[in-house]
Amino acid sequence: MTTIPPGDVPSCGSDDPELARFRAGPGGPVDHARIERAVREILFAVGENPDREGLLDTPARVARMYAELFSGLHQDPRVHLKTAFTEKYDEVVLVRDIAFHSVCEHHLLPFMGKAHIGYIPDGRVLGLSKLGRIVEVVSRRPQVQERLTETVADLLVEELGAKGVAVVVEAVHTCMTIRGIRKPGSECVTSAMKGLFRSNVSSRAEVLSLIYGRRSS
Ligand SMILES: [Zn+2]
Repeated sequence: MTTIPPGDVPSCGSDDPELARFRAGPGGPVDHARIERAVREILFAVGENPDREGLLDTPARVARMYAELFSGLHQDPRVHLKTAFTEKYDEVVLVRDIAFHSVCEHHLLPFMGKAHIGYIPDGRVLGLSKLGRIVEVVSRRPQVQERLTETVADLLVEELGAKGVAVVVEAVHTCMTIRGIRKPGSECVTSAMKGLFRSNVSSRAEVLSLIYGRRSS
């Protein structure tokens, strides 16, 4: 029944006591006080004075920020797939340029870009805005781009029963552009091809030309 790869997000039914405590923590599912303590520790550790005026509110601000950036941990993207409706249409449906931002789980730095999602329905069609909602929920978690791409594709295969799914994600990772190898402008492209888009070369060529065709540069 689970469509999300292991390790992506703890399921809501998890009986891990640490997680249960965390979910029941004060102020809702995110323990703000704990984040505040941790941020204060980091400030000390890098040689700052967390009690100076400019930093006084920073731990609380960072806690609110993480609660927002990781809100997808407490949401189930399948909710947005429940609203699919019956429609006799069996050609490619494509939504291009779905802007998203996520947080790289290796560095906790943002990566952001665009997702393109194409699918071939098998009698059930999804409201177009729902594709954007699914990307939003899945991206608001500690992520790697490869898993983000696969998770969205798997959801459409398993929950919508699409005959073919193509997900292409293009993103800039700030952990590559502002630190480490510092390659500004480099973009990471990942794709997941399922069903007809995997097995049928001409279907795959069609969806890729729909995604990239309009671009002249
Ligand atoms: Zn990273």
